[in-house]
Amino acid sequence: MALDPDCLFCKIAQKQISSKTAYEDEVLYAFHDIAPQAPTHILIIPKEHIATLNDLTPAHAALVGKMFLAARQLAEQAGISQSGYRCVFNCMRGAGQSVFHIHLHLLGGRPMGWPPG
Ligand code: AMP
Repeated sequence: MALDPDCLFCKIAQKQISSKTAYEDEVLYAFHDIAPQAPTHILIIPKEHIATLNDLTPAHAALVGKMFLAARQLAEQAGISQSGYRCVFNCMRGAGQSVFHIHLHLLGGRPMGWPPG
């Protein structure tokens, strides 16, 4: 499995940096965002280092599917599956990506505007 020793989210997934765990399995790790933008704000990441959505290949299809299934499960656990939630991938700096290890934001627990800023 590819890891980047300089990547913040690789270090978090490997427990070299602490975080508040929300979910974990063999291929995924999920944790609460350090600067939450909603009452529920969880980041779901692959343990494998993938820098951006631009780096995905067809071989990652099941992994990305698992990220959304984890989001669905976490939304249900957080009690926001019926009130509504948003799943966001930011890709590259112009879209707001600041950590270059793909992460699915799960946001909910408040009304959401559209379009996003
Ligand atoms: P993005 O801007 O889409 O790349 O999202 C990166 C997210 O990572 C932001 O929402 C940050 O608040 C969050 N973040 C950065 N460092 C940490 C950390 N050490 N623990 C938890 N969340 C973090």
